[in-house]
Amino acid sequence: SKQINVALIGNPNTGKTSVFNALTGLNQKVGNYPGITVEKKEGVCKLPRGVKAHILDLPGTYSLNATSLDENVVIELLLNKKDKNFPDLAIVVTDVENLKRNLLLFTQIKDLEIPTVLVINMADRMSKKGISLDIPLLEEKLNTKIALVSSRKNTGIDKIKELILDHRNIPTSTCVDTTVIDKTYFEGLQNAFPSQSVYKLWLVITQDINFANLDRNLVKDTSDFSTKSKSDLKRLQQKETIIRYKFINDVLKEGYKVDLNAAKGLR
Ligand code: GDP
Ligand code: MG
Repeated sequence: SKQINVALIGNPNTGKTSVFNALTGLNQKVGNYPGITVEKKEGVCKLPRGVKAHILDLPGTYSLNATSLDENVVIELLLNKKDKNFPDLAIVVTDVENLKRNLLLFTQIKDLEIPTVLVINMADRMSKKGISLDIPLLEEKLNTKIALVSSRKNTGIDKIKELILDHRNIPTSTCVDTTVIDKTYFEGLQNAFPSQSVYKLWLVITQDINFANLDRNLVKDTSDFSTKSKSDLKRLQQKETIIRYKFINDVLKEGYKVDLNAAKGLR
């Protein structure tokens, strides 16, 4: 039977490689620095009932608005359904102490309409920092499934395995309405390509990446829409970031609490 393709994605230093090691039993070096590790690491995760998952540990990336080689690797994979490593499930790994910043990338990957789950790692740091999470609420607002994990203490890894096994039931809906970035432009795009995710189209048009392996037809067909100036694109990308952070702030206001009095050492 076919292996389940899983991609581990996230900002640098969120614990992707630690989670990769926990899932695969391999021993890749942790603490990679962005810009150094651009190659992908691959391993196998054995699941119940003889099922196997192919796990890809991708280089750390801050967003899908590519600025570095590392980020291009991730974007090129996520935009190319024909890549043999195209994920059946994307796992976005985040650090509970930097959740707000880390969620930016999560919302972008969700908006490509790829099945995406959230790993909130470093759970062992929560009591010390007085952090509490409302996981069911976060799952509802982000329209995904969450595994609260400490790869250091080896907790929550079985939950990730459950989510991998259940990848067919992970929602593929978007979480942010990106058409707000430029209503007329995005509606024009969506009408011209009704079967495509509008955010994917936007990235195909705006990102300066290597399309050699990508769906050339899509690049050619969307070329009519590549009329915006560099400065317009920059402005729209900034608007996108603002829209995403507004969404993230609204979600975290309800689902993420920091009680400084409860934080260890401050009592
Ligand atoms: P990557 O850059 O996303 O691949 O992250 P790494 O797996 O290399 O981990 C970055 C740093 O975070 C390393 O120093 C790890 O030891 C540390 N780390 C990873 N997971 C955890 C965790 O669950 N708890 C704590 N406290 N530290 C962790
Ligand atoms: Mg790493």
